Amino acid sequence: MADAMRQRVPVPRRHTHQSGTPPLISYVLPVYNEAAGIRRFHTELTAATATRPEFGYEFIYVNDGSADGSLEILQDLAKNDPRVRVVDFARNFGHQIAITAGLDHAVGDAVIVMDTDLQDPPQVSLQLIDEWLAGAEIVSARRRTRRDSAFKRFTAHTYYRLLRRCAEVDIPVDTGDFRLLDRRAAEELRGFRERSRFIRGMVASMGFHQREVLFDRDERIAGETKYPMRKMLRLAADGVTSFSTVPLKLITRMGFAALALALLGIVYAVTLRLFFPAVTVSGWTMLMVAMLFLGGLQMLSLGVIGSYVGRIYQEVQQRPLYIVRDVIRHDQD
Ligand code: UDP
Ligand code: MG
Repeated sequence: MADAMRQRVPVPRRHTHQSGTPPLISYVLPVYNEAAGIRRFHTELTAATATRPEFGYEFIYVNDGSADGSLEILQDLAKNDPRVRVVDFARNFGHQIAITAGLDHAVGDAVIVMDTDLQDPPQVSLQLIDEWLAGAEIVSARRRTRRDSAFKRFTAHTYYRLLRRCAEVDIPVDTGDFRLLDRRAAEELRGFRERSRFIRGMVASMGFHQREVLFDRDERIAGETKYPMRKMLRLAADGVTSFSTVPLKLITRMGFAALALALLGIVYAVTLRLFFPAVTVSGWTMLMVAMLFLGGLQMLSLGVIGSYVGRIYQEVQQRPLYIVRDVIRHDQD
């Protein structure tokens, strides 16, 4: 990285805000039944951002259909702090959709997505800003350690490594959705409108200058995890199916294997019939041949159909075909 880029300049290279006004940082904050801790979260976040007065801030809380009075607290926060905005969902749409809505509403020069249970420390978000100032367009916070149950740590550890092996894009391990996006990157991410959303994968697939900041993930300040087994499994499946066709390829491979075995079986059955007629029961050969052949053929056909379904799936995802960072012209200053 060039030294000039590393300098602490309060204005990023490609900014669109008017000169004279400080750069605006948007925080996108999904909230689902966080009444017990959300006030403390806001206090700590604003305390952290107050140490960096060279920026303007907006805090976009997305209330994801909370049923525990979180909304009332958020309304109160908004009343006392003009920088707070609340997007109130009509029901629980899930974490990934809540983040998406927040991104849709954010207008900052950089957007930071973080959890509202203080597992993502506000102090670390300032480090993300520093990396942004140093020239990164996407800065992901990567967990060095995490204080969750042994089960969650184990499943997450294994899952991210498996996903990395089968995904077609380079999805970094041990990173959740805690990250900073430059305005340009945030705008591009808005173009991904697929329904099953695995945002960390979409971000990885976009390119841009990406960087990581390591941090130690804290315990949740209050309440239980809002990701029960069911939601965790769905997110895990979305991650695999959105960024990998490995399951489809497996079917095709199984099809080939089944057909090869079937051919061997057919040779065996016919040989028995021709040379050892005494061993076979009448009708056995025909049954074996038909069953093996059809079984193998069916597996293979499923694989072929699967690969077309895979293509249809990719088409309906309607992802951007390419992402342009910049168009450089001769007469540009
Ligand atoms: N969340 C949400 N909608 C949901 C589930 C969770 O907006 O359906 C929010 C939640 O309030 C928190 C963040 O997403 O700010 C992460 O959830 P949680 O902390 O429960 O997940 P974990 O950290 O246990 O993986
Ligand atoms: Mg959490």
